Amino acid sequence: MGLTKTQVIVVGGGMVGVSLALALASKGKKVALLERATEPKAMPDQPTLRVSALNEASQTWLEQLGVWSLLPPEKLGYFQRMQVWDDSSGADIQFSAASVDKPNLGCIVENAVIEAALWQKAEALGVQLETGVVIEQIEESEDDVHVQSEDGRHFLGQLLVAADGGKSQVRATMNVETSFRDYEQLGVVTTLTTEYPHEGSARQMFLQGGPLALLPMANPNEVSIVWSLPTLEAKALLEQEPQAFDQAVTAAAGGRLGLLKQAMKPAAFPLKMQYAEQWVKGRMVLAGDAAHTIHPLAGQGANLGLGDAWYLAEQLLTLGSLNGAWDAAKLQKSLRHYERARKTAAVKQIATMEGFHRLFTEQHPAVRFIRSLGLSATQRLDKVKAFFLKQANEF
Ligand SMILES: Cc1cc2nc3c(=O)[nH]c(=O)nc-3n(C[C@H](O)[C@H](O)[C@H](O)COP(=O)(O)OP(=O)(O)OC[C@H]3O[C@@H](n4cnc5c(N)ncnc54)[C@H](O)[C@@H]3O)c2cc1C
Repeated sequence: MGLTKTQVIVVGGGMVGVSLALALASKGKKVALLERATEPKAMPDQPTLRVSALNEASQTWLEQLGVWSLLPPEKLGYFQRMQVWDDSSGADIQFSAASVDKPNLGCIVENAVIEAALWQKAEALGVQLETGVVIEQIEESEDDVHVQSEDGRHFLGQLLVAADGGKSQVRATMNVETSFRDYEQLGVVTTLTTEYPHEGSARQMFLQGGPLALLPMANPNEVSIVWSLPTLEAKALLEQEPQAFDQAVTAAAGGRLGLLKQAMKPAAFPLKMQYAEQWVKGRMVLAGDAAHTIHPLAGQGANLGLGDAWYLAEQLLTLGSLNGAWDAAKLQKSLRHYERARKTAAVKQIATMEGFHRLFTEQHPAVRFIRSLGLSATQRLDKVKAFFLKQANEF
């Protein structure tokens, strides 16, 4: 098979990789996107499991990229209110978009729907979309990066962006250190029908075992849940018959939305924090989950990753090139700038998630003691409120 010469090679066709690829292509850059899955990501004809709560910054960027208008309106779960409960004290707090002069606090959308719209736009803008790519080798020289796939496809680019998710193969090739924390929890995810309408309110409950998020879908009687539980409890829950599962989640939600019923088979994802110590090495750079994975408690992973893609695109697009070639020193400067700025954003999120995890979830007696001496339940919830309001509009 032949050799593709391009300016940028993006590895990974998730939200982060494709949004970056199409942002660059929309300004005339040549981009090849390499995805391991064998099929292009197409609009699903059935509801899918994974969802993201996209904040205002993500929505605005996807609008600018011409992607938001491709999302079917019946798939957009805008929410205007948020309610947070601390089960150990019974305290709760509520806040609304109106209180901060916004039309909404975010929008719940299926990941597969966002990805399909991104792929559609990327194709229209001439991104070279390569599927079924199993990378065999990555070689870097002073001027370029060469990727070879197992089936003999070759790609040569001035820059390689790794957006290949939490288990990034490219990151392993780069041989960078990562900080790692296993929360020893699984996030149980499914979509439920509700007896009472959710009324455009996202609900977050800090329960004994871990937080339960009830995210309002476009359908007024449907919520997507992420229930973080200790691994063994989560596995036991998944083994329950649907009726027993429904009873457990209805009880955990304190009956707030009436009877809850599975609309989809639940699945579970391991919850881990992972942070790459170095995001740039020569002509290779990390973005999205390849650079950082955070606890989904605040539903910020995709927003953070889209923020990486936006920032990296801005850096690369303001970098002058001669006959399509970037000056090596200027490219390095831009990449360092990107790394510094986005590491700061990621570290802030990771630290906040760690803090929330400790404040609300950890069962260790010392933590409970500190908790009893320290912040009151209302003060803790005020911190959550401030965080969510801030995150509602920034990457
Ligand atoms: C339970 C749970 C709930 C979550 N809820 C939310 C939420 O509500 N809001 C939110 O903002 N975030 C949420 N997140 C986080 C969010 O899903 C991720 O941060 C986001 O999907 C990361 O996007 P990405 O493009 O970096 O990686 P991914 O979505 O993992 O995409 C990586 C892509 O690369 C491809 N790939 C992998 N390896 C290779 C390879 N070697 N070669 C080529 N291609 C490859 C994969 O097939 C995939 O297409 C949640 C996470 C979990 C675990």
